[in-house]
Amino acid sequence: MTISSRRGANAMQVLEQSVVVFSQNYLPLCCVNIKRAIVLLVTNKAEPLDFAADGGWRVHSPSLVIEVPKHIRLKIGSSERTWKVPPVNRREVLRRDHHTCQYCGSGKRLTLDHVIPRSKGGLHTWDNVVTACERCNSRKGDRSLSEVGMQLRKLPKAPIHPAIAFAEQFWTNVQANLE
Ligand SMILES: [Zn+2]
Repeated sequence: MTISSRRGANAMQVLEQSVVVFSQNYLPLCCVNIKRAIVLLVTNKAEPLDFAADGGWRVHSPSLVIEVPKHIRLKIGSSERTWKVPPVNRREVLRRDHHTCQYCGSGKRLTLDHVIPRSKGGLHTWDNVVTACERCNSRKGDRSLSEVGMQLRKLPKAPIHPAIAFAEQFWTNVQANLE
């Protein structure tokens, strides 16, 4: 397979490019790498979505030439409807908090902390459980934030649908490019 770009990038640069995947309802869902985009196009699971003459890439294999646009649209249903808010557990909370302590930013010796301690009626819910390193967790102990004078880097919230999160980011980027 050889790859050439209409913009003169080399093959390695093209392979690092990503293609935005839209759902059947034209919601931006996620980015995939160009190989994955080719698989979706060749297997007829997706079609090119042409916003504008937005460039894209031309990929040659011995038997075919594929135009890979920067945006593709799925022809099949995606998992849009089956997503549920994940349970509040260590793995999911650490993932939401990008594996960093929500008090000091450390990425080491991570634990879960109840912002309002359970002993004071704090619930085991997305808006009351955060990632905290052992040091911050023991410093805070069984006290509330105001008692110990600590601050959260951001307010904890339940994760949102990944497609919605992606769509928000996508439209923010589009807007930034238009300005
Ligand atoms: Zn910490």
